[in-house]
Amino acid sequence: MPDSANQPIRLALREQVALVLDACVKCPKCMAECAFLKKYGTPKAFADACNPSDKNWLLLAYECSLCGLCASVCPVDLNPAAMFLEMRREAVDRGFAPSPEHKIIMDYEQRGASKRYSYYSLPRGCHTVLFPGCTLPGTRPDSTISLYRHLKTADPNLGIVLDCCCKPSHDLGRQAFFEAMFNEMKSYLIDHDIKTIIAACPNCFQVFKEYGKPLEVIMACESLLKQDLPKASQPIGTRVISIHDPCVLRNETSIHQAIRKLAKARGFVISEMIHSREHSMCCGEGGSVGFVTKNFSEQWGENCRQEVTGRRLLTYCAGCANKLNKKVPTDHILDVIFNPSAVSTATYRVSKAPWTYLNRLKLKRYLKKNHPAAVKREREFFVSTTSSKKRSRQAFLFPIRFLFNLYCLCRQLFKTFMQKKKP
Ligand code: SF4
Ligand code: SF4
Repeated sequence: MPDSANQPIRLALREQVALVLDACVKCPKCMAECAFLKKYGTPKAFADACNPSDKNWLLLAYECSLCGLCASVCPVDLNPAAMFLEMRREAVDRGFAPSPEHKIIMDYEQRGASKRYSYYSLPRGCHTVLFPGCTLPGTRPDSTISLYRHLKTADPNLGIVLDCCCKPSHDLGRQAFFEAMFNEMKSYLIDHDIKTIIAACPNCFQVFKEYGKPLEVIMACESLLKQDLPKASQPIGTRVISIHDPCVLRNETSIHQAIRKLAKARGFVISEMIHSREHSMCCGEGGSVGFVTKNFSEQWGENCRQEVTGRRLLTYCAGCANKLNKKVPTDHILDVIFNPSAVSTATYRVSKAPWTYLNRLKLKRYLKKNHPAAVKREREFFVSTTSSKKRSRQAFLFPIRFLFNLYCLCRQLFKTFMQKKKP
């Protein structure tokens, strides 16, 4: 562990703190929007208390969703989330983070980028790939396949990449790990003459946009508008809904317009929320806050529920759809486009863990079988952050964990079976 008391503060954190100290007028518009700031005070209060050798001060940043709503209302154009992200990076550098609570999300990410789950399928002449991310293929494998097939009708050389963009690590402040993982993937794609990424996940979009240059990135909903939509076997019918814009895309005006055009094309009438577009709220998943402070994470969904007053929500992030669905019935745009009849009768089934992992493996098998490609790869690159002592302990525990997981899976299966049997 680094000697954190004597470690100098990183320049990036010092700059962010100085910005807030200099400009924040404690108005406090951001506090009115955010439960985290309501509890701990204005961003200036954080900056005033700056003490990077104080673990408790740094770890407070893990209670901020990094959603950026504060920036969208700030009269002096501050972005407090940038300071909180730097606090997270500082905490990682000093060995204070990530916390044991974050292991679940890091394991999820590690699986996504592993040899078993990853798959690159690049046909001859391929310059564009669909990048569906982790959550969409797990929860909605049929919509993912339909999207790929549909986009392929316009570009027969379209490839697909099943991999994790490592945004969870980015947001946890594990910057060195994130950059090593992401840059390896990026270099591979550039070396294989890929120019454009079609992202189906807003977080992947954001990562490619910020770190992926010279690769171009567009959202799948924008691509869909460039060709005819699949015919709906059964129209959804006029329905008034609200749109939840994922907070990572709050400044992407063209994507906001695209999603609204798609919704209208399927017959929806849109009643806009106050918190939409650049003022959209976090769904509760942002910044992995739920792993450390459930209340703040839940509060976002609660705010959403109160604002939509009984209407259904439509979104274009599989993570947001899962999270919000616990508070407000929420559809994903790809289900609306490719499975309108199931959406209209509310019979569309979204998979949950552990089935999500099985779905991803099945999708990979489907792609291998049905979409032969000139270049294929399963990713074997991984940056290990564990010591050799820890690795041997993990190897020792692996069979015990495996048996325990198997037991949990059987128990879950048994429960589902019994529930189905009940009249
Ligand atoms: S980024 Fe979101 S959660 Fe963090 S302080 Fe701003 S509004 Fe609050
Ligand atoms: S909205 Fe901007 S100026 Fe007002 S308290 Fe928040 S950060 Fe400071």
